[in-house]
Amino acid sequence: MELNLQELNATEFPVPTELENNIAITSLSQLYNWGRRNSMWPMLFGLACCAIEMIATASSRFDFSRFGFEVMRATPRQADLMIVSGTVTKKMVVPIVRLYNQMPEPKYVLAMGACASGGGPFKEGYNVVSGMDKYLPVDVYVPGCPPTPQALLYGMIALQRKIDGQSIANGDDVPWYGVGTAEATPVPVLGPDIIDPRQMDMIRRQAEASARDLDRLGGRELPAATQLVAAKVETRETAAEAEPIDDDALSFVLPAGAAPWAEAEDIREKRRLRALARKALRASRRAAAVEEG
Ligand code: SF4
Repeated sequence: MELNLQELNATEFPVPTELENNIAITSLSQLYNWGRRNSMWPMLFGLACCAIEMIATASSRFDFSRFGFEVMRATPRQADLMIVSGTVTKKMVVPIVRLYNQMPEPKYVLAMGACASGGGPFKEGYNVVSGMDKYLPVDVYVPGCPPTPQALLYGMIALQRKIDGQSIANGDDVPWYGVGTAEATPVPVLGPDIIDPRQMDMIRRQAEASARDLDRLGGRELPAATQLVAAKVETRETAAEAEPIDDDALSFVLPAGAAPWAEAEDIREKRRLRALARKALRASRRAAAVEEG
């Protein structure tokens, strides 16, 4: 809550009448929270379309300075509020977490919009994380795609209310003042609901199997373009399998002690060795062509 000067003056403690209007009595927590809630400095960064609404919220028409979010800081070391405004891609999640780690305590995170809150329209896309809260402790979620400036202001005021409820007497509220080991620095880890590009082969096979057996697995038909690409890949792989492999040509590209490609058991290893063999074959043909002529 905001400090109400009249309330502060109307204290139950005995104060000489002549000093009543000059003395205010409150708790340290309230004073501390009052200072923090009214001087939040958001970090100056945006990720996608939601950032435009955030910029509008900072501009003169809405002007979040009126609520104490005075200046956006272009360095995490001077910011205590991170507004995650936009789609969080796998590429960006690492720098975002790094920026968060560089912010001093106490610090807060506001997830702005559907994308930052849960992946939004791109949820489970190959490159999008399903919500910032998988990587950072989010304090307030603002729904919308994009949220309006009014909605963002409401979310920021909700954050101020959350701060009002904290007490420096309670170690759980203000762990940064505690003694002992600090919380481990969060490190982004890919979750199971996120597509891992290293498993693209398996994901493609599952999608194809699901498309072939629509009724049983409840899958959906692959789009025509995907079918075309799948057919091309299959033709190319069949042709590559049929290509004769020259073990002599292969010997100089294989590491010492490696099993010949035909004996390798692991499919991935087999593929790698076959690719090396094809490369060696092409190199030997080129060398032969140069010799001939
Ligand atoms: S929530 Fe909507 S407006 Fe915001 S970044 Fe995502 S797609 Fe863009």
